[in-house]
Amino acid sequence: MLTFTNRFLNALPGDPNPSNHSRQVHGAFWSRVTPARVAAPSLLLHSPEVAAMLGLSEAQMRSPEMLAALSGNGVLPGMDTYATAYAGHQFGNWAGQLGDGRAIMLGEVLAPSAEHFEWQLKGAGPTPFSRRADGRAVLRSSIREFLCSEAMHHLGVPTTRALSLVLTGEPVERDMFYDGHPELEPGAIVCRVAPSFIRFGHFELFASRGEHALLRQLIDFTVTHYFPGIAAAHADPRERLLAWYAEVCARTARLMARWMGVGFVHGVMNTDNLSILGLTIDYGPYGWVDDFDPGWTPNTTDAQGKRYAFGRQPGVAQWNLARLGDALATLDAVPPEALTDALAQFERTYAAEANGLFAEKFGLRAAVGHGDDASEARAIIDAAFALLVQHEIDMTIFFRSLASATTVADLRDAFYRDTEWHEARAAWAAWFERYAALGARLHATPDARAERAARMNAVNPKYVLRNYLAQQVIDSAHAGDYAPIAELLDVMRRPYEEQPGRERFAHKRPDWARTKAGCSMLSCSS
Ligand code: AMP
Ligand code: MG
Repeated sequence: MLTFTNRFLNALPGDPNPSNHSRQVHGAFWSRVTPARVAAPSLLLHSPEVAAMLGLSEAQMRSPEMLAALSGNGVLPGMDTYATAYAGHQFGNWAGQLGDGRAIMLGEVLAPSAEHFEWQLKGAGPTPFSRRADGRAVLRSSIREFLCSEAMHHLGVPTTRALSLVLTGEPVERDMFYDGHPELEPGAIVCRVAPSFIRFGHFELFASRGEHALLRQLIDFTVTHYFPGIAAAHADPRERLLAWYAEVCARTARLMARWMGVGFVHGVMNTDNLSILGLTIDYGPYGWVDDFDPGWTPNTTDAQGKRYAFGRQPGVAQWNLARLGDALATLDAVPPEALTDALAQFERTYAAEANGLFAEKFGLRAAVGHGDDASEARAIIDAAFALLVQHEIDMTIFFRSLASATTVADLRDAFYRDTEWHEARAAWAAWFERYAALGARLHATPDARAERAARMNAVNPKYVLRNYLAQQVIDSAHAGDYAPIAELLDVMRRPYEEQPGRERFAHKRPDWARTKAGCSMLSCSS
């Protein structure tokens, strides 16, 4: 038996208009909407960890009632379906009202852990926020969202989760590269799960319209339910707001450090795609860097400006937080300077988190705070970054190799091109000698060295959701074979462990995938 609490719906005012046509929704947080029926739903895959978190048994997951709920063909007792209103800045420009155009909330459950989780279908049909689009999602993007949210969770990166992946049995038309060649693709629906799907853009919407009472109400709701420590510590509304904004800045900074540490590139960091809880949200044209290239973006729509390239993500997050700050500054009695001070929290937290994480990844954490060793460690890490960007070097393999490397030759496998390895070998040999010398000094005994290696392997994943691996299982699924999706999910469950027999999932990007659609280039069409 699931207990639905639906606090967002019950506590915040909604749109009195029950009709489901595209429109501007004013003075409301949500519009009631019923998912569209689908022809022939089937459950392709579910996440046992998410089911367990929600208190769902295997039998419940496989019941006809659950399939109906997860495909939008029915609701479980206590579910109440709606879409929420938000706005946003897209690619740096104000975009006005956006909203859940193809996401439909099913409600919020109270889990056995006493935590609350919202359920949301992505691709369950049009809502008042769909504008001219169809509210649907295709199988390839749904596989990508499902796999990546679970992979990120198992890597330890804060993220929304995926409960299920359902095939609708209906085709969806998409023009994948916006080049006038639309095709019919299989439709699918992912059920996402998170404590809340509130985005920066929810706050921006009310600020942009001068709906200050609603903005205050949303801040109140958010702080009370999701930041109870801040609610308890600050009775004064102004202090509470500032402390909360500073905390959002800090959480977002920690998230950025985690993305940078595993080589994740979100691809569409618009303010409507940033979670107020500091979760990774909205898996669209995301990618994983193969070679360590701060200028790389997987998103073809961003190929010109590269606004959302790998190395730009922390700066963009800060820009987005400033837009959130602008929204808060529309309230009386919120001094802009105080918001600017709170925003400064972002840079401090990001620097501390990223420096700490990379010190850990290089196995040089022990040097931190120890005078000369600390500056030597800093110089070694900076030198590695300077070398990494000069050639095509696989980020994941490079870092994973460090724990067991005894000579520079142990780094060779990370290189994509033999010629570059020969060219760079001398520079890397000099770097490695310096690196190994500091490592030996910091970790003198075999026990200390073994402990260091274990710690490094706990932050340097062996398995990440490489773009070409995701594309391979998508290609298989399009050919009717869904088993590879489950196998890839299983590999991604234990990313930091050696998994004998599964080494092929740790191989660097093969040459055929270098410029293949889906492997290095993705569009927003999903
Ligand atoms: P995204 O870039 O995927 O984060 O989407 C930006 C906005 O477009 C959000 O308001 C989405 O709900 C909306 N959107 C994206 N795809 C669709 C679709 N197929 N149907 C309706 N709305 C969509
Ligand atoms: Mg989005």
